[in-house]
Amino acid sequence: MNDSVLTLQRVDASYGPAQALFGIDLDLAQGETIALLGRNGAGKTTTLRAVMNLMVRRTGRIDVFGSPAKGPADAIARRGVGWVPDDRRIFPTLTVRENLRLAQRAGRSKDRAPVSFDEVLEILPIMKRLIDRRGSALSGGEQQAVAIARAIMARPRLLLLDEPTEGLAPVIVDELEQAVADLPGRFGMSILLAEQNLRFVQRTARRVIVLETGRLVYSGTVEEFAANDDVRERYLAIG
Ligand code: ATP
Repeated sequence: MNDSVLTLQRVDASYGPAQALFGIDLDLAQGETIALLGRNGAGKTTTLRAVMNLMVRRTGRIDVFGSPAKGPADAIARRGVGWVPDDRRIFPTLTVRENLRLAQRAGRSKDRAPVSFDEVLEILPIMKRLIDRRGSALSGGEQQAVAIARAIMARPRLLLLDEPTEGLAPVIVDELEQAVADLPGRFGMSILLAEQNLRFVQRTARRVIVLETGRLVYSGTVEEFAANDDVRERYLAIG
């Protein structure tokens, strides 16, 4: 038994007739964070959906915790995979506390005690002033913080984060950055992060994978990636 939390081998994925991923390989170790980078439409979200077996038809092999990630998304989630989609999906009429409580119940598992409110407030201090507000009264950044808090409550062993910083104010990005950087050490979580914010990636991830039109075009450590101007200019939306 190795310590692989997630492996993808030659994974293709399609939306109906439209193929979106071509032969993706990936290996995420226990406690590691890998960032998926690439322009809009490169296939980052589709890779996360393929892991959850959601919305896409896929071929190739995907294993979580050493056995195939098969069946519906909720069955995969119950095995300890948390997913934070890019549309956040906070219940607007419920307070933040109620949103979190629901998640705690939904993610309940025999082998993992849920993360407590206190622990979540410690790792995401912004939650302290949001806890009694309704979902509909939150800014985009606050909703993103709640979506992450909600996923953490179920104490997933593998967390899939889809573009957590998209459209957010810098002060919230800083707080999320600190929280995401702390999750592996604090809870032993492993993270697959789709993200376009390079600073966030450099402060949270150990390795970087770059996708371009559904293909893996680069893989390296964050240090190697930081030193590679060519890859950044060629495949990312920044100059
Ligand atoms: P973004 O940052 O825009 O979300 P991404 O890297 O996450 O980009 P994907 O959303 O994975 O990219 O998209 C990969 C390809 O799949 C794109 O060509 C996109 O148009 C297509 N695609 C994504 N979702 C669907 C869908 N629900 N139905 C059909 N095609 C889709």
